[in-house]
Amino acid sequence: MDNHNEANGAKLIDGKAMAKGLTEEIRQEVDLLIKEGHPLPGLAVVLVGNDPASEVYVKNKAIQTHHAGMRSFMHMLPQSTSQKELLTLIEDLNKNPQIHGILIQLPLPEQIDPVLVTNAIDPAKDVDGLGEVNTGRLALGMTNGIVPCTPLGCLKLLQSVHPDMTGMNALIIGSSNLVGRPMAQLLLKENCTVTIAHIHTTNLPELARQADIIVVATGKAGLVRGDWVKPGATIIDVGITRVMQENGRSRLVGDVNFDEVKHVAGHITPVPGGVGPMTITCLLHNTFQAAKRLYEKQD
Ligand code: NAD
Repeated sequence: MDNHNEANGAKLIDGKAMAKGLTEEIRQEVDLLIKEGHPLPGLAVVLVGNDPASEVYVKNKAIQTHHAGMRSFMHMLPQSTSQKELLTLIEDLNKNPQIHGILIQLPLPEQIDPVLVTNAIDPAKDVDGLGEVNTGRLALGMTNGIVPCTPLGCLKLLQSVHPDMTGMNALIIGSSNLVGRPMAQLLLKENCTVTIAHIHTTNLPELARQADIIVVATGKAGLVRGDWVKPGATIIDVGITRVMQENGRSRLVGDVNFDEVKHVAGHITPVPGGVGPMTITCLLHNTFQAAKRLYEKQD
């Protein structure tokens, strides 16, 4: 399926359509596993507290897990949950044979250390790929790790436009452990020349104008302007910011000034409907792969 539509000059990279297709592929692969006599892959999602945005995210993850034919286990814990209680739950989930993937929804309440908790997840079930074992495997260019979902989704979107990225200049704006850093490792592996920019970068527009690929993940709405972009460049917009409109309603916008950049770029992801749906699909992909690896070991 061609997931690219015209966006007034630039072609739109339709993450929603691509995510739907990939989820369907995962569902078919899950069916095959079941026919071979294996148990259903299971994903446990843990939410601590009642942040409304996080509640929406975890419910959506549960729905999508069902769409992919897998089992979803939700653990909704109160805001007052102690670090010890959460670690005990993770230990149980690590041992539970029905569960192949564990995701702890971030952010966590302040009494809980997110690094400690993330590293308590069995690396084979760390489907967010954020623990030190999977981070290390990615940094070493190893293929037996689990890659964080958002950068993996961005990579798949990029590969739909550029099956071979060898020698391309890639600029990543934002250096978080969640997006920017793993993205840099993935594009290095694709043989790109990678630059990572962040809040202290002094010549961002200049760097951007040299880039064939820009992946931006800052949370700064509209940061990337039309005159920053090399004509024909491919732009992946990870940012999500909710802004109020004059009519009193809110809408989601990305880190790219879309109305300017769409006239210059070759390909661009929309917000919403670009990276977001791919992130969830990559979580399903990682869960399926985690189950498959376990079954292959047992066979
Ligand atoms: P973060 O706050 O951890 O990191 C932001 C990074 O951007 C930092 O490296 C910072 O130095 C850099 N930065 C901030 N302002 C900048 C500026 N003006 N110029 C250059 N660099 C700047 O954020 P994060 O967790 O990586 O998330 C970034 C954005 O991506 C947020 O909007 C978040 O909501 C979104 N996000 C979307 C998805 C998705 O699935 N679509 C997933 C993860 C994050």
